[in-house]
Amino acid sequence: SNDDVLPEEHSEYDNKLLSELDRENKRLLTIQETRKSLPVYHFRQELLTSIKDNQILIVVGETGSGKTTQLPQYLVEDGYTQNGKYQIACTQPRRVAATSVAARVADEMNVVLGKQVGYSIRFEDKTTPDTTILKYMTDGMLLREFMTDPELSKYACIMIDEAHERTLATDVLLGLLKDILPHRKDLKLIISSATMNATKFSSFFYDAPIFNVPGRRFPVDIHYTLHPEANYLNAAVTTVLQIHTTQALPGDILVFFTGQEEIEAAQQSLEDIAHALGDKIKDMVIAPIYANLPQEQQSKIFQKTPPGCRKIVLATNIAETSLTIDGIKYVVDPGFVKENSYVPSTGMSQLLTVPCSRASVDQRAGRAGRVGPGKCFRIFTKWSYYHELEPLPKPEILRTNLSQVVLLLLSLGVTDLINFPLLDKPSIPALSKALESLYVLGALNSKGAITRLGRMMCEFPCEPDFGKVIHTAATHESCKGALEEVVTIVAMLHETASIFVHSRAERDQNKTAVVGRVSSDHMLYLRTFNSWRDMDYSKSWCFDHKVQYKTMVRVRNIRDQLWRCCDKLGLVALNEKAARSLNVDDNLEPRIIKSFISGFPANVARLGPTGYRTLGKSQGGVNVSIHPTSTVFQAARQDMKKPSKFILYQRLVLTSKEFMRDCMPVPREDWLQEMVPHYFNGDNTRN
Ligand code: ADP
Ligand code: MG
Repeated sequence: SNDDVLPEEHSEYDNKLLSELDRENKRLLTIQETRKSLPVYHFRQELLTSIKDNQILIVVGETGSGKTTQLPQYLVEDGYTQNGKYQIACTQPRRVAATSVAARVADEMNVVLGKQVGYSIRFEDKTTPDTTILKYMTDGMLLREFMTDPELSKYACIMIDEAHERTLATDVLLGLLKDILPHRKDLKLIISSATMNATKFSSFFYDAPIFNVPGRRFPVDIHYTLHPEANYLNAAVTTVLQIHTTQALPGDILVFFTGQEEIEAAQQSLEDIAHALGDKIKDMVIAPIYANLPQEQQSKIFQKTPPGCRKIVLATNIAETSLTIDGIKYVVDPGFVKENSYVPSTGMSQLLTVPCSRASVDQRAGRAGRVGPGKCFRIFTKWSYYHELEPLPKPEILRTNLSQVVLLLLSLGVTDLINFPLLDKPSIPALSKALESLYVLGALNSKGAITRLGRMMCEFPCEPDFGKVIHTAATHESCKGALEEVVTIVAMLHETASIFVHSRAERDQNKTAVVGRVSSDHMLYLRTFNSWRDMDYSKSWCFDHKVQYKTMVRVRNIRDQLWRCCDKLGLVALNEKAARSLNVDDNLEPRIIKSFISGFPANVARLGPTGYRTLGKSQGGVNVSIHPTSTVFQAARQDMKKPSKFILYQRLVLTSKEFMRDCMPVPREDWLQEMVPHYFNGDNTRN
């Protein structure tokens, strides 16, 4: 009787297997068909020939034409990796782009992500050294590889993607590559860019050829507002609803916001309205995308919109050129972007919301015309488009603190900074300021040469100021013994945007409930992490205390990496020796505060008759306030205690006024002189 049963079972099993295989085959088939339908596919052979004939090629094409996902695969198919002997790298300015594109390409090549195809972003390396042949990475990560391998000898091809974004790391990479290409005749360099700026890259690389990939692009109708909008967030939400209720399906909507907070607010109001209207409107699938969005939620933007539904993608300008989302027919664009801005004379860095350039809003509008004719609704006036917007975005190198890059270049032996090849040269004051602040940190000596400490600061996968803080915590006479705590705080400071879960209203209250009263945000972060650690890194502890588990896992990982780096540099051993001589109940807080002073002397504000002012050296500083979300703000309100005369802050944010975020009171003025004597001398602590 067994014989009767077996064949049947067998065949059922076979059928199931067959239909699964069938499905898988179909999936692979559609992937291959999609690949062939992309504009670059028609130029595959021509591109490969141009690459073969030229060491440097500039590839220009419309967003969505297949540059990022296809070109590196063509290089693999053409044998550039020599059976895995060499790698191919493709850099991205944004972490989200690097991870999501790597996942897509692994899928297209039908391999497991992290094996043949991987990605490398700061604090997260998803590659396998002997297996990975194609690596998507942030431009900053490739920059760091110059420290261990100045000739980039393991790569056969490097594709600098999204070069038009002109991030600081991309600009410096292009300079360094220009330097090594003559010695590395076998290294191919591809610079790919959306349709702005290509000739600039070409002339920088001795008139390298430009390969144009003609894109398909349908006409996009542009609509403007008649009057300037005071509240672009509300206006954008209203516009989305108008489109949704008046325009036929299918046709998804892409809205550009400046950051996570705006996106969350817009998502909330859209969900509230959809809830209130119920059946009266068609379903909306709301898909946010921004840098800090947990990876598993990012894929939602790529999922096919179900019939009868409309997808509303709420994005930062990551969707301007780095990610292509199919099916977008409508773009809503308030025309703003968050940009870092740095004033060398005051040494102040801040994130500002500024109007986009004309080139950027044109790119954004183009997103509506990929599948068919589209519409773009700009939440600003036509007059503003023609008279107020800058033609092109300002390259990051002209508006950022250069300390980290200057230190890296010096550590690579580039001493003639003025003549280092760059597409746009930073101003002399910006360079001098970088040298000056590196000198204050002890990374350079008085002759401007890099010190041993400077080299150590470079080793850390974080800004040199944090490297200094960590170094101080292990080595300075009145700090050592506090290394563990300081490393934890530094790791937490890298993820502050998403540690605590809460609605906007709760944002302020909940944090101290987790750990009790603390004197600073730094101590709050430390206690939060340690409480979690004491509960064996438990998920339910996070849930109960409204702390984001996934963020904490990331923090733990960052912390482990920083710790390994400390260990390698011998700091852990030094610290342990010091810790043994400390009393168990010695209060470590003064040591922690002093460590942070040593790395951030320029981030100290002093209380004067009109409130806090930064300690600008000659300029006299600016007025700043403690951000209401800071525990320091809440403590001051609850206790009515005398506010601290000095406050150290991690960031300045300009919204309704200039706010200090992540604050730490400095209880004693002489700590400033003790920790950074050549900075806080004489009248420097006045303003
Ligand atoms: P380009 O770099 O020229 O802007 P891409 O190579 O990024 O173009 O995109 C080509 C196509 O690949 C897009 O049109 C999109 O259909 C598809 N694609 C890219 N990334 C993903 C993803 N993560 N999921 C699904 N499809 C994707
Ligand atoms: Mg691309």
